[in-house]
Amino acid sequence: MNDHRPAGLPERIRHFIDGEEVDSLSGRTFEVLDPVTNQPYATAAAGQAEDIDRAVTAARAAFTDGPWPAMTARERARVLFRIADAVEAEADRLAELETFDTGLPITQARGQARRAAENFRFFGDEIVALHEDAYRVPGAQVNYVVRKPVGVAGLITPWNTPFMLESWKLAPALASGCTVVLKPAEFTPLSASLWPRIFAEAGLPRGVFNLVGGIGEEAGQALVDHPHVPRISFTGETTTGQTIMGRAAANLKGLSMELGGKSPAVVFADADLDAALDSTLFGVFSLNGERCTAGSRILVDRAIYPEFCARYAERAQRIVVGPPHDPATEVGALVHPEHYERVLGYVELGKREATLLAGGARPEHLPTGNYLAPTVFADVKPDARIFQEEIFGPVVALTPFDTEAEVVALANDVRYGLAGYVWTNDLKRGHRVAAAIDAGMVWLNSHNIRDLRTPFGGVKASGVGHEGGRRSIDFYTTEQIVHIALGEVHTPRFGAR
Ligand code: NAD
Repeated sequence: MNDHRPAGLPERIRHFIDGEEVDSLSGRTFEVLDPVTNQPYATAAAGQAEDIDRAVTAARAAFTDGPWPAMTARERARVLFRIADAVEAEADRLAELETFDTGLPITQARGQARRAAENFRFFGDEIVALHEDAYRVPGAQVNYVVRKPVGVAGLITPWNTPFMLESWKLAPALASGCTVVLKPAEFTPLSASLWPRIFAEAGLPRGVFNLVGGIGEEAGQALVDHPHVPRISFTGETTTGQTIMGRAAANLKGLSMELGGKSPAVVFADADLDAALDSTLFGVFSLNGERCTAGSRILVDRAIYPEFCARYAERAQRIVVGPPHDPATEVGALVHPEHYERVLGYVELGKREATLLAGGARPEHLPTGNYLAPTVFADVKPDARIFQEEIFGPVVALTPFDTEAEVVALANDVRYGLAGYVWTNDLKRGHRVAAAIDAGMVWLNSHNIRDLRTPFGGVKASGVGHEGGRRSIDFYTTEQIVHIALGEVHTPRFGAR
């Protein structure tokens, strides 16, 4: 029994379709575990194709017959702002649920409501400020663009920071006038159960938001296969993304794919070493290392490599691993025993492939639960699997380099290209190396701090398409061009001779 079970936990987690909480038509369910005891705490409805069809039918009806797509941008924005306020008002409850369900340290879960609320505010502002283009051919034509919501958007999300990542898709989809079917991750369905009340109280019309829980290969796949869902926004593993892209071809869907990463953090000898240490520790050990943009390969100038390794390992050993609800905890419990086993597999592999400097095992004071001491490997060769593969846990690889050319090659020598971090006080080199890294997002002398207006997404195996700001609105809308003739139109006179 987890002593820090939040009060009022639901015993059953159900779908939300057309304004009602419902079970699966088949009655099928699955059990949800908490990561501290690994015991089931709730039974969740396991959506099948018929449940997805029911949700899509409701979302289609809300799109075709309901007020939402036709409302003015300002009217929709007002609802989004009320959602943002309601999300913030739920901050404590959300943090409590997220910590319990995901194992995220409570201090880090507390920021999630603010970030989720900000997504709704941002896209409320964005949609009101949006303009449509017009093109003039003097004396001949005026051509104007009509931007339309695409219809039902299918949103498929992962278990790391689940509520916040759901908001990242829900906010632009709703702002654009789409109706949605959300399929949250099966490991962490708890916080998504807050959405129906928040949306209803904010005045979102019935049927606009639908949620179907369940297993990826069942509910997720049915959403991808559904012919009346023209867009799928997916965040998750690269291999899942590949499956989805293949299946989506049958209905020629628009896809946004935010996938895995193995991002480099490059530390040059002239960097502010204290700042680089703080940032590269935070970059891989915050959110339990379960973050897509984690700087999980630290490439260090050989001139400072011994000192960096020693200081890094010493700090990593002092990171407080503990129960997620404890405010002193810096690294909590990994989300699920299956994921924990996978991460431990990489740790054992790393012990054969490289030099273990810190961690490498369950902390002694935590005999149960999915806990792993922050694990630091040094002298990791570029062909090692722990250098190449996404681990998605509190595990980091340190590798030395001698020259700028070498470090750029090392940074790019993986299949992924999500993020990159560069630490140097040499302005020219900083910009040069940032530009040379094959990644969708680079931070210079900083860890990952987002500006919501900027493109978010990866290259190579880290994704296809970028979201963020206007790009998200582009994804959930389609542009239609209307041409108007202003003068006489020269028309070849077929059949007139
Ligand atoms: P996952 O791919 O296992 O699951 C993600 C979602 O897809 C879940 O809801 C799951 O049920 C669903 N799913 C699984 N199989 C499916 C299928 N065949 N058809 C349709 N849906 C299916 O990923 P995860 O383990 O939940 O999340 C961790 C991964 O997400 C990591 O690789 C991480 O890097 C990535 N991630 C990427 C970003 C980004 O923005 N690039 C952000 C967060 C997480």
